[in-house]
Amino acid sequence: MKVLVLNCGSSSVKFQLIETDLEAIKTNSDICLAKGRIERVGKEDAKIVYEVPEREKYKTVLPILNHAAAIKETTELLTGELGVIGDLKEIEAVGHRTVHGGEDFSDSTVWNDAVLKTVEECSKLAPLHNPHNITGYLEAKKVFPDVPHVAVFDTAFHQTMKPVAYLYGLPYEYYRKYKIRRYGFHGTSHRYVSYRAAQLLGKDLSDLKIITNHLGNGSSVAAIDKGQSVDTSMGYTPLEGLVMGTRCGDIDPSIPLSIIKSEGISAEEMDTFLNKKCGLLGISELSNDMLDLENAYYEGNEQAELAMRIFCYRIKKYIGAYSAAMNGVDVIIFTGGIGENSNEVREWSTEGLDFMGALIDIEKNKELNRGEGIISKPESKVKIMLIPTNEELLIARDTVRLISA
Ligand code: ADP
Repeated sequence: MKVLVLNCGSSSVKFQLIETDLEAIKTNSDICLAKGRIERVGKEDAKIVYEVPEREKYKTVLPILNHAAAIKETTELLTGELGVIGDLKEIEAVGHRTVHGGEDFSDSTVWNDAVLKTVEECSKLAPLHNPHNITGYLEAKKVFPDVPHVAVFDTAFHQTMKPVAYLYGLPYEYYRKYKIRRYGFHGTSHRYVSYRAAQLLGKDLSDLKIITNHLGNGSSVAAIDKGQSVDTSMGYTPLEGLVMGTRCGDIDPSIPLSIIKSEGISAEEMDTFLNKKCGLLGISELSNDMLDLENAYYEGNEQAELAMRIFCYRIKKYIGAYSAAMNGVDVIIFTGGIGENSNEVREWSTEGLDFMGALIDIEKNKELNRGEGIISKPESKVKIMLIPTNEELLIARDTVRLISA
C-alpha cells in the first residue's frame, strides 16, 4: 500500500511516499519511493528538494505561497516527469505528523470532525505547531478526499507516563485549570528506535528497559520500560530537559525572572531568549550547530568544547536518572542528527558509566558512525546502540496499522 506522509510546519512541508503493509512492517521491508521538502513556504523563493532513491537529487526554487501550494507541488513532483507514480489514485492513505494530542490521544488516530475539534483545542498547548498540522490535513483532504487520513502525535507515546513522572511541584489546581503537566515530545522517534533496537537484538520489547537519546536541534531522552514511555526529558513544552541547539533545557526557574528584571525585557522576549539564544549557541557564542562546534573544538576553541561537554554531561545525568527510574537499563540508544553523526557526543555522554555495566567501544563507535548497530564492547552488560531514526516510516506504519484494523 502506498502511503503519503506529510509533515507540515509553519514554513515548511516535508513529505515521503512509502510502500508498506502489515507484512513489510514485520520484516522491516517497507520501501521509501520518494521524499522531499519544501522550505520557505509563504515566500516567492521557496526551496524545493526532491529525492528518489538511486536518482540524482532534484533542487529548485519556486514561489510557494501557502500550504495548499506546497501540497500541490508535492503531488506534481510525485506524478510528473520526476515522479514515481502514474496517478494520485495510487495513494491509498495519508499520514500526518501532528505535534500535540494533549491528554486526549495516547495513540495515532484516523482524522474525522471530532478529532479535528480536539486537535484544535490542543493548539493552546502548541500554538506554533498544531495550527499548521491542521492546515496540512485540511488542504490534503481536499486533494485526497476519498482516502483515510491518520494523525500521528509527537506526544501520544508519552501518555503512558504516570502522574508521579508527569506532574510538577506546582499547585494541583494549575494542572486542573490549565493542564500544566509534562507531555514530552519526539514520541514517534523514541518509539521507532526502541522498536527497531528490539528487532535488531532479536528480543521482545516487553523484556527490555531502554533509554533513547534523540539528539538534534531539539533533543530529548526517554525511559522506555517494556515498550512504554515511563519518563521523558521534555515537559510542558520542548524547552525542558537537555541543553539543545538554542534552547536552555533545565534551569533554575527563578533565572528568567531575574533576567527579566535586570535586562528590562518582556515575558515574550524572555520566551524567545530561552528558545532561540541559549543552549549550545549561548554557551559557545559561536554556533547552535554541533558540526560547527566539533570543527571549532578540533581547532582548539575551548568555549566550543565547553558547550559540547555541558551537552554531554546533561545527557549522562539523564541516563543515570532514568536507569534509577526503571531499576536498571538494558539498552542505551543514540539517534537524531547529532546522535547519528557525532561519535564525540556518543563517547562523552557514555564515558564513566562502567559502574552500571555500560562500556562504549571507542573504535566501534567511530567505525559505525552514521550506521546502525551496537557500539558497546562485547562484555558490556548494557548494549549501547546507534539507530538512525525514521519518524516518517513510523507514521506510514501507524497509518497502515490503523486502517487495516
Ligand atoms: P532537527 O531537530 O531539526 O530535526 P536534526 O535531527 O536534523 O535536527 O539534527 C541537526 C543537528 O545534527 C545539528 O546540530 C547538526 O549540526 C547535527 N549534525 C549533522 N551532521 C553532523 C555531523 N556530521 N557531526 C556532528 N553533528 C552533526
